[in-house]
Amino acid sequence: MFSSANESSIYTLPPSIEPEWSGVDQDLAQAFQENQTLREHIVQHAQLMQLLTHQLATPLTALNGAVHLLGEPSLALEQRQEFLGVIQQKLHSLTTLLRDLMALRNVETGKIATQPISFCFKMLVAEVMAGFAPYPVTYRFGAELPQVWGDRWQVSQVLVNFLSNAIKYSPNGRAIEVGAAVKQSGWVEIWVQDYGLGIPEADQPHLFYRFYRVKHGDRENIEGTGLGLSLCKILVENQGGQLGFESTHGAGSRFYFTLPIAPMIDR
Ligand code: ADP
Repeated sequence: MFSSANESSIYTLPPSIEPEWSGVDQDLAQAFQENQTLREHIVQHAQLMQLLTHQLATPLTALNGAVHLLGEPSLALEQRQEFLGVIQQKLHSLTTLLRDLMALRNVETGKIATQPISFCFKMLVAEVMAGFAPYPVTYRFGAELPQVWGDRWQVSQVLVNFLSNAIKYSPNGRAIEVGAAVKQSGWVEIWVQDYGLGIPEADQPHLFYRFYRVKHGDRENIEGTGLGLSLCKILVENQGGQLGFESTHGAGSRFYFTLPIAPMIDR
C-alpha cells in the first residue's frame, strides 16, 4: 500500500522462484503464499522506515544548523531572529509529522473506533471552516441535502485535510468551493474544488501513498508531511465511502468523497 514507482527501487528482495504446484501438497502452496506476503511486508516496512528517516532528518539537520549558529556571540539581532524563525518552523514541521503519524497509526490499529451517526453535513462544514483563518469560500450544496451517515469526527478530519490542502496549494489566494449533492441512489458526494497549483499528471497515481509529496518547483516552499491524503483514504473507507480527485496542473484540483445517506429511522 505504501510503495510507489519512486519508492519501489529503494529496497527489493531477490525474486523468489515460483514452483509448479500441480500435484504438490496444498499446505506447501499456502506456506509459499505466506512467505511471499511476508517478503512484501518486509520490503514495505523497509521503504517506510527509509522515508520516515528522511522526513525526520531534514528538519533535524536545519534545526542543528540554526541552533549552532545561534551560539555565535557576534550575531546581530536580526540574524538571531532569523535563526529563531527557522527553529520555530522546523519544530512545527516535526510536531505536524508526529501528529499525522499518530493519527495514521491510531486509525490503522483500530484505536479509533468508527462510531457512525446521522448528521447534517452543512453544519459540519460550518464548524470545520470556523477553525480556519478567514479564506474566501463558495458553498454549493444541493437542494434538500439529506443527512449523511458516518463517524462525524473522522469525516471532519477528511474535510480538514481537503480544505487545508486546497488553501495551502492555492498560493494565488483564489476562492475555493465546497459542495455536496446526492450523486447516486443512497450516496452523497462531497467535494472541495480549488483553482490553485493542481497536480502534475505523472504524480497523480501516487498521491494516496504514505509520505508521497509532489516534487515540483511550484511548491518547493510549501511544507507538508505527505501523510494527509493517505489518512483521508483510510478514514473515508472506514465509512464505506470512496474518494478520488481530478486535477489539471496549473489550473486546480477537485477532491471528492462519498458518504452513505443516513437511514430513514435515524434522521
Ligand atoms: P502534504 O500536503 O502534507 O504534502 P498530502 O498527503 O495532503 O501531503 O498531499 C500529498 C501531495 O499531494 C502534496 O505534497 C501536494 O503536492 C499534492 N496535493 C494535495 N492536495 C493538493 C491540492 N489541493 N492542490 C495541489 N496539490 C495537492
